[in-house]
Amino acid sequence: MVLQVKEPTIPITEIEQSAFCQTEDELKTKTLEEEFSAGVRWQKLPISYLRKTPEELDDRILYARAKLGDQLVVLGHHYQRNAIIRFADYRGDSFKLSQLAASQDRAEYIVFCGVHFMAETADILSARHQQVILPNLTAGCSMADMAHVDDVLDCWEELEEALDGYGGITPITYMNSTAAIKALCGRNEGIVCTSSNARATFEWAFERSERVLFLPDQHLGRNTAVQLGVGLDEMVVWNPFKPLGGHTPDELRRARVVLWQGHCSVHTRFTVEQIERARSSVPGVNVMVHPECTLDVVQAADVNGSTELITRTISDAPAGSAWAVGTEVSLVNRIAQQNPDKTVFCLDSVVCPCSTMYRIHPAYLSWVLDGLNEGVVVNRISVDERTAGEARVALDRMLSIT
Ligand code: SF4
Repeated sequence: MVLQVKEPTIPITEIEQSAFCQTEDELKTKTLEEEFSAGVRWQKLPISYLRKTPEELDDRILYARAKLGDQLVVLGHHYQRNAIIRFADYRGDSFKLSQLAASQDRAEYIVFCGVHFMAETADILSARHQQVILPNLTAGCSMADMAHVDDVLDCWEELEEALDGYGGITPITYMNSTAAIKALCGRNEGIVCTSSNARATFEWAFERSERVLFLPDQHLGRNTAVQLGVGLDEMVVWNPFKPLGGHTPDELRRARVVLWQGHCSVHTRFTVEQIERARSSVPGVNVMVHPECTLDVVQAADVNGSTELITRTISDAPAGSAWAVGTEVSLVNRIAQQNPDKTVFCLDSVVCPCSTMYRIHPAYLSWVLDGLNEGVVVNRISVDERTAGEARVALDRMLSIT
């Protein structure tokens, strides 16, 4: 095997990640024409949608939805802006929404207000007659974009060769990855995980081999492995731009966990200093963060867990309790609105939404719904049969253990 040094690249979605950050309290939806000035890539759409006010778009979406009736189901990820989530028939995290997509087999069209990998998963899990639509094709995910399938295939080949005869390795990919990477896991006795069941999938993998390759979020992988008692000195980070990920064969053989060098641009903004500031300004505050945060932040917090757990924990908490939350700000603001008897605030004082989630502007939702009413399916997300079949194997393995 010839090991190549590759030119390091940063995904454009990572470069654009802070495009919508601001210091005002509230993210207010403007016309799409005004939001275009944020300087991210936007998908082109007919010019008539650009200047429609949020109110005009609301009316138009309501009308289009009503006309489509049971043919349509709209799914909204927790990180969507309020101007979108209010139209969602169901809201949830990526996996919950994909399961919902699979159970809504009466609806011919599934409009997924989220990001690209979520729409792919919904397509994999939904019935053949259903069509999944992503309102804006530039709504990707910087974390998923950090694991390009060609780099992962190279990594897998190099690992298999370096570890041949040394106890093997099981690939686990986080839901936040492309269908092609889920398929690689399906083909190679691997599994998919979510932030809720990462620990169970690690245990499953360690029953089968001595090592785990965790893709693409190094932080969720590290946080989970630490919970299971794996030492930091038993983990290595795979740099896709270096031969053997930047390690010697011996270093790889000594490792129990190989972490892909990827991260969430939103959750890595949270710091221990922010936690300390929250504790000193609001005595008695509970700090809750997502496990995509870095290890020091997760260890400094009182609780860590998925978006579903964060939402549930705060809604079940006693009135008068205070919560500083380390996750996407659109969700934190919504939890605060839904829990007026509690103090809920984002750990980061800068209002910094996930810039790819934020690209689902109501103008795009209106555009795709109007298209459906005219018999035109725009922005269909379709995973080829072979990839979908292999990815489904890895998804089914996850479902069988959780
Ligand atoms: S919050 Fe992070 S992981 Fe989630 S879609 Fe945005 S960049 Fe991706």
